[in-house]
Amino acid sequence: MNAVDHKKNLLALRESLRLAQETGDQAERTVELDQARVGRLSRMDAMQAQAMSKETGRLRRQKLLQIEAALKRIENDDYGYCQECGDDIALARLEVDPAALLCIRCAEASES
Ligand SMILES: [Zn+2]
Repeated sequence: MNAVDHKKNLLALRESLRLAQETGDQAERTVELDQARVGRLSRMDAMQAQAMSKETGRLRRQKLLQIEAALKRIENDDYGYCQECGDDIALARLEVDPAALLCIRCAEASES
């Protein structure tokens, strides 16, 4: 596993997120259109579904930014180092999430 593979993974991830984003944006709009002709209960369902797809969209945009940042770090030969402590990020971790910013120690510390 080297930076080239990570770059390939990141590009593939970015591609699938972009596709999902297009579909997701359409879903958000569809809900708005449907609201005019559905009853009160299903309107609430629709609003709930819309809130969920908005949240999904927000997380997706956040992830895309992380991926862009990771790609930039690969270009700058700065990829694979923890943004917090500067240690190497474990390869296994980068395989699971090539956009990871923190080593496992710092990630766990920031979650707790
Ligand atoms: Zn760290």
